[in-house]
Amino acid sequence: MTNSNNPETIVLHAGYRTDPATGAVAVPIYQTTSFQFQDTGHASRLFALQELGNIYTRIMNPTQDALEQRIAALDGGVAALAVSSGQAASAMAIQNLAWAGDNVVSSTDLYGGTWNLFSNTLRQQGIEVRFVDPSDPENFRRATDDRTRAYYAETLPNPKLHVFPIKEVADIGRPLGIPLIMDNTAAPILCRPFDHGAAINVYSLTKYIGGHGTSIGGMIVDSGAFDWEAVPERQPALNQPDESYHGAVWTEAVKPLGPIAYIIRARVILLRDLGSAVAPQNAFQFIQGLETLPLRMREHCRNAAAVAEYLGKHGKVTKVIHPGNQSGEERRRADTYLKGGLGGLVGFELGGGKEAGQAFIEALKMFYHVANIGDARSLAIHPASTTHSQLSAEEQLATGVSDGYVRLSIGIEHIDDIIADLDQALAAV
Ligand code: PLP
Repeated sequence: MTNSNNPETIVLHAGYRTDPATGAVAVPIYQTTSFQFQDTGHASRLFALQELGNIYTRIMNPTQDALEQRIAALDGGVAALAVSSGQAASAMAIQNLAWAGDNVVSSTDLYGGTWNLFSNTLRQQGIEVRFVDPSDPENFRRATDDRTRAYYAETLPNPKLHVFPIKEVADIGRPLGIPLIMDNTAAPILCRPFDHGAAINVYSLTKYIGGHGTSIGGMIVDSGAFDWEAVPERQPALNQPDESYHGAVWTEAVKPLGPIAYIIRARVILLRDLGSAVAPQNAFQFIQGLETLPLRMREHCRNAAAVAEYLGKHGKVTKVIHPGNQSGEERRRADTYLKGGLGGLVGFELGGGKEAGQAFIEALKMFYHVANIGDARSLAIHPASTTHSQLSAEEQLATGVSDGYVRLSIGIEHIDDIIADLDQALAAV
């Protein structure tokens, strides 16, 4: 265990020291579906949440638990819930508060999959997501009404790479009883949204935290700092009796366990009922990735800054999208919220539009052409014809995707090899 506040130490030591049964130093993969109770009293205490412990791997497992504790410590939160994908984390983070007839106010600057979830699937379930332009934080207040249950945004959303005004929007929501949920997938280590007032973080572990392109997973992290009881009528899911758990009022029921009403409800209601559990084997892969995350983030950021500089000088590139190229309020937000680097993502536009974008992708030799970000390897994609192709032309432009836009996720290869591959591919356009 560690009391350190340094991410390099937390990722190696928080939440787990050795296996109590064997002394194993690496976190064991507890590949088991269920756990034997000590006796009938123990079993009923676990089910009644009088004691926390392992029952069944859909709800909780020691390998998942080590991962959850480590990420909660990294983010400065109190508890976390690992799930089967980043999409499951985003969906459950909202479903844990909002029901049919309720609404959520979200930034327009979102990953395409989240955009689809919000504008189609959640809407079909009766949850309205109201999209607002985050450049003016007051837009969140303007879109709020009595049925608004949460605000939602991404820290470093691609393709625009405009850092979100976390404190500004968290400060609007807090007196109204509305928590800010931040998708921090693109900026782990670089940003700690809880330090700026966010209530909940979500992650796709699939990206930087896993880092090696082997596993799909997600995480919801509870800051423990949001007062769910301050405006009780705002959060009925946590303040009214829950019929599916013997009428438990979550804010009351968990008081002896700590400020974990939100994350406990997500675990014992949503994970129980929807079943999006992460496999212990995948949880282990994420623990492995996490151990080197601070080192990798440093290299991703350093290489991405060098790529942005190189592209800025290239004659065929009409625009480079990277926080380092921003000015004014956008740059202020990047400098306020990102520490130790400006992220590993770089976008650029080619004058030749869609054809040029696709020709560039075809010509790459070392970069992988994949629908992913945050891998140790460098990755590239042409969003208009792939990740954002299900959006209308107007929606594409609203999210910052022009026809000639190319997204790069810069890896940790040697910078000379990264630039050499970009250089030869640009020559082919
Ligand atoms: N959030 C962001 C910012 C993402 O980039 C992604 C995936 O690309 C997701 C969420 C969804 O994560 P997953 O693919 O693990 O479901």
